[in-house]
Parts: sequence; structure tokens; C-alpha cells
Amino acid sequence: MESLAAPRISNTMKAPLLIVLGLVALACGATAGQSVKVPIKPMEKAPMRKDRVVKTEAQWKKVLSPAAFEVLRKDGTDPAFDSPFHDNHAKGDYYCAGCGLLIFSSDNKFDSGTGWPSFWKPIKLDNVWYRRDGSAGMDRIEVRCARCDGHLGHVFDDGPQPTGLRYCLNGSALKFVKK
Ligand SMILES: [Zn+2]
Repeated sequence: MESLAAPRISNTMKAPLLIVLGLVALACGATAGQSVKVPIKPMEKAPMRKDRVVKTEAQWKKVLSPAAFEVLRKDGTDPAFDSPFHDNHAKGDYYCAGCGLLIFSSDNKFDSGTGWPSFWKPIKLDNVWYRRDGSAGMDRIEVRCARCDGHLGHVFDDGPQPTGLRYCLNGSALKFVKK
């Protein structure tokens, strides 16, 4: 009887201990002071850049692959784990597949396990803009190219430090140039 009772007591103690450890970890994270703020301000329209790239649907179709056209111009989504670059660990830069604007770097890429290439920040904050996306019954924030207004993916607040953000991108919307 005693040998059965002992593990029961330790099991009931485990839950509060884990909660305490979790709170300590949270407190340490909060006081580390290394977090980086990336302002995410959804807008209605793309920014009016001087170097904006504007094409008709027919013109985009001519210059983009079918997959890139579907994602960039039709707000499509690559299949998970079949998206280009989700498993790319090479050093290099990621450009918009539509207009060639430099957007992300391998320095800010991480393995999210989602099956899509994931980054914790863009390399140039002004090269993307954000739009509220209520499609598919979800409330999400969409990430778009600031130069050609192509749809790149979405940003979520469950990413790693220092930003706590997860840019979940479609590999078909990107071009990778190895360093
Ligand atoms: Zn672009």
C-alpha cells in the first residue's frame, strides 16, 4: 500500500511545481530586456511608394510561375510541408518573387514546425505592409510586399524572441539568393 501511495503524492505535487517554474521562466523572459518591437499596424491600402510596381493580371500571369501567381496575386496558400524553402537552412536572402524586393534574411529564419518558411522579423521593416484578413472564418494579419502589393503570408504573435512574432510565409511568393 505504501509503495502505491508514494507516487500519488508526488504526482499531485508536480502540477503546482510546473506552474511555479513556468512563472519563473516568464518573469526571467520579461526582465531580460532583449525583446525587439516590430510595429504591426494593419492598413487599408498599400503604401504609396515611389518605386511601386503595378501590373495587370495578364501581365503578372506572364512573368510569374502558376504557384507564385496564385499566392502573390490571388492570396493563395502553399500546401504545408510542400512550400518551397520551409526546410531551407542555407544562408542567404529572400526576395519577393513578384518584384524582387529584399524582404527576409536567413538570419531571422527559424524552424516553426508548421511546414511553411517562418521568420521572426523582416530584414527591412518598410518593405512589407499589413492588412487585416477576416477570410476563412479567421481574424488574421496578412503580410504583403510594400512594392508590388503581393500577398506573402500572415504574421502571428506566437513566435520566438526577440520579437515574439512568427511570419508564416508562402515559399512560392519568395525567391532565395544563397550567400
Ligand atoms: Zn513585391
